[in-house]
Amino acid sequence: MRIDIITLFPEVCSAVLNESIIGRAQKSGALKIVFHQLRDYAFDKHKRVDDTPYGGGMGMVLKAEPIALCFEAICDQLGERPHFVYMSPQGRVLNQQLLKDTAQKYKNVCILCGHYEGIDERVLESLIDEEVSIGDYVLTGGELPACVYADALCRMIPGVLSDDSCFTEESHYSGLLEYPQYTKPSSWRGMEVPQVLLSGHHKNIEDWRRYQSIKRTKEKRPDMYKIAEISQEERDKIDNKIEYK
Ligand code: SAM
Repeated sequence: MRIDIITLFPEVCSAVLNESIIGRAQKSGALKIVFHQLRDYAFDKHKRVDDTPYGGGMGMVLKAEPIALCFEAICDQLGERPHFVYMSPQGRVLNQQLLKDTAQKYKNVCILCGHYEGIDERVLESLIDEEVSIGDYVLTGGELPACVYADALCRMIPGVLSDDSCFTEESHYSGLLEYPQYTKPSSWRGMEVPQVLLSGHHKNIEDWRRYQSIKRTKEKRPDMYKIAEISQEERDKIDNKIEYK
């Protein structure tokens, strides 16, 4: 997958996405992230990308033309039109299903970060395919939301993590929260790692993890538990508090 990010602050996004797992995946060629400075597409001598809102009011609005020019340059580079996403508090709230669908459906995704009061509505009407929000609150700019969205999306691209199970077994992917994790030492300040994890018995470990996963989903996210794909037998065990043996 290639991800293009249009922003007034490319260094904010690159500082996050060029590091650690996503940074290494870019170096290995599993994915490519390209950062675009919106100001490079300003056509006046002051490189102005924003202006006051028609009708009056506070703040500034990002102008339509630099965004369109930048997006068209990206389309030319790619030789095709990428899926164009605007990070916006008015968008569909991000979740694992939305990410799964996007990762499966699109080879190229372009992300637009807004700033100030947002962007000229005509960009939304004519260019944007989808608005995505990272939650029902308002941030100063779209850079942090873009990093959240791109990071979560990249994790599902083959070759980014060492194995697909790294993300398929994690919280939310299967509609359940992940089981508890432990590392060395096995005894820490009087607290022991569950015996089954030290047993080396793969089937028992798998059963214990599945049980814990369902149990903690019920405790922490009853809304998810209600609609999770769990067998009646498993539901009965958890509902009747039959502890894993
Ligand atoms: N005036 C806009 C409104 O009331 O809907 C809010 C603009 S916000 C201050 C500036 C930019 O931050 C937005 O254009 C968007 O790109 C980004 N942003 C803010 N909150 C966000 C959120 N929850 N999810 C995604 N993007 C967000």
